[in-house]
Amino acid sequence: MAAAPTTTSTRVAYQQCIMPGCGASYGVEEVRTSCDACGALLDVRYDWDALPVPDSLKWFEQKWSRRNEPLAKSGVWRFHELLPFAPPEKVVTIGEGQTPLIQTDGVGDYIGMGRGNLFLEYEGMNPSGSFKDNGMTAAFTHAHTVGARRAACASTGNTSASLALYCCSSKLMQAVIFIGSGKISYGKLSQALDYGALTVQIAGDFDDAMQRVQQVSKQLGIYLVNSVNPFRLEGQKTIMLRVLESLNWEVPDWIVVPGGNLGNSSSFGKAFYELKQLGLIDRVPRLAVINAAGANTLHQLYEKRGLRWNGGQPDQKIIDGYAAELDSGGKRADTIASAIEINRPVNLEKCLRALEWMDGVVREVTDQEILDAKAQVGASGMGCEPASAASVAGAKQLREEGVIDPDARVVCILTGHQLKDPTATVAYHTADQEEFNRVLGSRGVSRAEFANRAVQVENDLDEIVRAIQLNS
Ligand SMILES: *Cc1c(COP(=O)(O)O)cnc(C)c1O
Ligand SMILES: [Zn+2]
Repeated sequence: MAAAPTTTSTRVAYQQCIMPGCGASYGVEEVRTSCDACGALLDVRYDWDALPVPDSLKWFEQKWSRRNEPLAKSGVWRFHELLPFAPPEKVVTIGEGQTPLIQTDGVGDYIGMGRGNLFLEYEGMNPSGSFKDNGMTAAFTHAHTVGARRAACASTGNTSASLALYCCSSKLMQAVIFIGSGKISYGKLSQALDYGALTVQIAGDFDDAMQRVQQVSKQLGIYLVNSVNPFRLEGQKTIMLRVLESLNWEVPDWIVVPGGNLGNSSSFGKAFYELKQLGLIDRVPRLAVINAAGANTLHQLYEKRGLRWNGGQPDQKIIDGYAAELDSGGKRADTIASAIEINRPVNLEKCLRALEWMDGVVREVTDQEILDAKAQVGASGMGCEPASAASVAGAKQLREEGVIDPDARVVCILTGHQLKDPTATVAYHTADQEEFNRVLGSRGVSRAEFANRAVQVENDLDEIVRAIQLNS
């Protein structure tokens, strides 16, 4: 394609059941989060032959010279041709996706990578401070095309912050957010409140809130933007497109991402599957999804019990058996990495498919490993919230196992900004043992190897001067 304009027809995009044995399809204008025929999740699919698809990824570079146009500026919508489900005039953008890929040897050394091989994709730089904006602009755009007036989500904090931001900046919809009690960090809660979202705090955890929001949305006809929404995942595909763009369209060897509800990992798989199918890349990187040890359903199912996508026939007995164990044991997710504190990931099947497409592995990391990795990310000049650091801790583990080669090119996704959860950061660095124990002790975190402790000193000039000289 030379310079075909962005055109979109609703005919060429549709929704389809992810299960090949079912394959039921639905119109792109329908609002649904599952298949009527079999209950599985849905994909957004395209009739690529009827669409103006570029013949090389380099084609997208021409958009850089049109940054005054909102759709060319957005790090999501400048790839509109690869997620063409809505007409350009319906797109709602707030300039999301201006995120850098940063090569850092500091974190690379910590993981054990060779020089120049470790990259961090800094998604905390999005308008609401997490990668969720990539998906929210897409789901919100779909909601707008179908005329929704209210949109809802359950959230550990970042999805609600993102939804609330799109609602208040566009004035197109009211945000209704469901959060569990006591779990959400103040950084995230403050965003939802500041942005004016109707905030419903449920006496329960994220998994409870997720179940309720699905029931309530159905009953009240509110548009649901959780990652069961297939349009969200379309937007999140562009994280991978920007990684490729930053690497001059060279495919890296590994993508390492924290896994919570498994929307991100699922969307990465779809992105690479489609790029390969379209002939825009010649190989696919491997995927590593990292659970927190306190919320390790995917790790249990994939690595311990051998659950696989299996060509669209995952063994339901394994899934149901594990769910029954969670129920009977009263087991609750528990990790300092609140954004991945999820035991019943809604995108499980899609993630299994992504793991197959990308020859993936799953690992679990402790809260201790997460916080140490997070301190390393902070010291590298970026910083992230605890959940994001799971990617770095997971890459370190895979390097130590020899699964990741030191000469491989590795991209870890930093999913959320450092200031989302300052409580965890301050507790790690504190000199106050009581404070440390209060926040981290119950998490099995016993040491802070990379702590940068504040120096306590009397309010006395000589003492202050002495303290600085002693410590510098
Ligand atoms: C939502 C979130 C995750 C988990 O992503 P999933 O797509 O649900 O697996 C990880 N880190 C942060 C910061 C998040 O906000
Ligand atoms: Zn189906």
